[in-house]
Amino acid sequence: MKNFLSNNTGLLIRVDDIAENMNWKFMDQCELLFDKFNIKPLLGIIPENKDKELLKFPKNSNFWKRVHSWKEKNWEISMHGFNHVYDNETKFSDFFKYGGPSEFCGHEYSHQYKKIKMGKERLLSEGISIKSFFAPNHTYDSNTFKALFENDIKIVIDGYGLFPYKDHNLTFIPQLFYKEIMLPFGIQSTQIHLNYWDENHLQRFKKFIEINRNKIKNFDELIKKSSDNKSTKIIRDLMKLTLINIRKFKYR
Ligand SMILES: [Zn+2]
Repeated sequence: MKNFLSNNTGLLIRVDDIAENMNWKFMDQCELLFDKFNIKPLLGIIPENKDKELLKFPKNSNFWKRVHSWKEKNWEISMHGFNHVYDNETKFSDFFKYGGPSEFCGHEYSHQYKKIKMGKERLLSEGISIKSFFAPNHTYDSNTFKALFENDIKIVIDGYGLFPYKDHNLTFIPQLFYKEIMLPFGIQSTQIHLNYWDENHLQRFKKFIEINRNKIKNFDELIKKSSDNKSTKIIRDLMKLTLINIRKFKYR
């Protein structure tokens, strides 16, 4: 039982909104922390950041060099949208029912395909190839999934449930909570927004890492745990309902 639990429990550290303009103070602190505990996070890079809010943060003109230094440490580089500009309102028509604005959901297939292609090419022009993607504000529709597949990106770091699973010809690693929470069982990813941190959040995160170090896994370890089992779909659907209700309650 103990082995079963430890083999099926894991948390991927997903850090969002990595771009030239960001809170570099907290990124530097986190890098020290990850190195100290030999943690290999997944970083969501915005290929062509045009988000006005994010552009207010300090710019690092050696950004792409820094990305290469992370890659050399075997950190997983992922693509987070294309320009992170929300130009559509989902009105809860998005696949995971987060609601709110979107960069992708609701746009025509050809538009979404082109943006994902441009993002991939932008990263490739800097010598960075990627295997995975997650959309700004968790908002996708079936065209996003098709556009990812056709661009040969087969892994999405979002979704519900307790295990990585297959759907729309892609593999999804669940991302459940907006806070750092370690479940006693199952495999999921965090979402970490350094730009909105304060000193207290950093200290809480340090404690969280110390306590949960053994359960924090890297991308390659977790992607192997993907399950096609139909029974996990029931868990996924129940969790989707639960979390949608919690979010509604929270924002009311
Ligand atoms: Zn984002």
